[in-house]
Amino acid sequence: MQVPERLYYADSFLKSFPASVADVRELSRTGGESVWQIALDRTAFYPTSGGQPSDTGTLRAVSPSGASLDIPIDSVDEDEHGQVWHFAPRPLAVGAQVEGHIDWERRFDHMQQHTGQHLLSAVFLRELSAPTVSFHLGESLSTIDLADGPFTQHSLERIERLANQIIAEDRAVSVRNVPRAEAESMLAAGALRKLPERGGAIRLIEIDGIDRNACGGTHVRTTGQIGGLLLRGTEKVSRGVRIEFVCGLRAVRAARADAAIIGHATAALSVGAADVPAAIERLKGEAKAFAKERVRLREELADYHAARLAVEVPIEKDLRFVDRLWKDRDPDYVKLLASRLTAAAPSTIVFFSSETSNAVFLVLARSLDFSFDCGRILREALSQLGLRGGGSAEFAQGEVPAHQLNALRDSVIAAVYKALENSR
Ligand SMILES: [Zn+2]
Repeated sequence: MQVPERLYYADSFLKSFPASVADVRELSRTGGESVWQIALDRTAFYPTSGGQPSDTGTLRAVSPSGASLDIPIDSVDEDEHGQVWHFAPRPLAVGAQVEGHIDWERRFDHMQQHTGQHLLSAVFLRELSAPTVSFHLGESLSTIDLADGPFTQHSLERIERLANQIIAEDRAVSVRNVPRAEAESMLAAGALRKLPERGGAIRLIEIDGIDRNACGGTHVRTTGQIGGLLLRGTEKVSRGVRIEFVCGLRAVRAARADAAIIGHATAALSVGAADVPAAIERLKGEAKAFAKERVRLREELADYHAARLAVEVPIEKDLRFVDRLWKDRDPDYVKLLASRLTAAAPSTIVFFSSETSNAVFLVLARSLDFSFDCGRILREALSQLGLRGGGSAEFAQGEVPAHQLNALRDSVIAAVYKALENSR
């Protein structure tokens, strides 16, 4: 099959074009919905390739009666034979005359990011000897992976400044085709950044005085049309460093979003923008000090609480059995209180439970002057209900659904008294 003429090679500013339908295939039918792939004799639609997403747009077919039909093109791909397939929810007849319309806002944004990538890769190579190994154009952010790094913040800011100087100089971005042999000698002489494997004529993209690169993509006409470049961040990757960047209106949108975030932060902290980092550090320091103080106060509270419980529940017949149920008491505090009480008060057994919205947390613990095994008693009582839990001889914990608490409590208390009976 004939491969289509790619109109964007000669004119990447072509927004609409006439063409005829060369081939139509039904791709899939999921839930009664088909996707159709349409080939044209010529196209200005850029297919997904080289890290850049495809164009979108419409194909307009006009019938002899003058009625027109717009078919949306959701994505465009090229196959291994060089055919360009336009994906659409509806088919067209082979031979139909159509007019293609590119979603220009999307395309121009892609050209800004992609040409910005040529420029950024060239500046990284020239200034830091860092070659680009891959490029990805994302929905909101673009990235290049460099086979080098890491770089200091100072270096990155210098690269960003140099790239923006070249943008402001509005240098020409030109396209020309040369025979492969000529491109190879350019590469050997260091006058070409990269050369693809394939044969035939090579399409060279030159940024005047800055960069020469073989590329089949779409580019703006001058560096000024890149409209500005902003580095957004770096990330370590297996082969080197990933640089995130945005160009043109994306840079404005990114700065606008940052300004909104800073605006929220200054209002919430009641400080100026420049003082936000210091205010956050101060809050972090305070939070750490509060957390430490809270731990100290809880321990102190648990000691007082344990002393009060020991007074409230006196020893009767050589035993102090402290049995308490709370609502929504933090399990960590319940455990702390149980361990403080059994450590401070002799002849003491505690059965504490705290009911939360989901379940009841419980602790069975004893002072060291008893010898029965809390872990075993609680484990056996829980397993009778098909539940799990346990612990050491002195301290055990578990969880029961609220409706099973009384059954568990009865069986634990019976087992404790039996164990005490046996040890006499
Ligand atoms: Zn390119």
